[in-house]
Amino acid sequence: MTFQKSITFSTSGHRDMHEITKEISEAVSESGIQNGIVHIFNIGSTGAIGTIEFEPGLKRDLPEILDKLIPPSRKYGHEQTWHDGNAHSHLQATLLGPSLTVPIQNGKLELGIWQQIFHLECDIKPRTRKLIITVTGE
Ligand code: ZN
Repeated sequence: MTFQKSITFSTSGHRDMHEITKEISEAVSESGIQNGIVHIFNIGSTGAIGTIEFEPGLKRDLPEILDKLIPPSRKYGHEQTWHDGNAHSHLQATLLGPSLTVPIQNGKLELGIWQQIFHLECDIKPRTRKLIITVTGE
């Protein structure tokens, strides 16, 4: 069977990172599915999903390294067309990806002890984010 729900939350803008492991785990419990997968998808092209050890150091390091790899700049093609200052946001979000799939075994997320699920806001302004959580299995 397949179970689907969405969650919504606000972000404060660029570099804002949220831990969403609890919300995903609750969706899995709600679904009643014991073995299968959960898929999490960020709607929008300037937000990213992934796993990390969610602790203050890495919470700072990940957005920082992304800004070094893909720095804010007015020279990107996107900027030349749209002039909205968020080309790096699109590129960073695409690099990390908008979704994640986690296996479920015996009704629980199969994550490492030091592995949490995060959402990273890459856009430059505060946003309201909607994530679609799809749980499938039996
Ligand atoms: Zn843009």
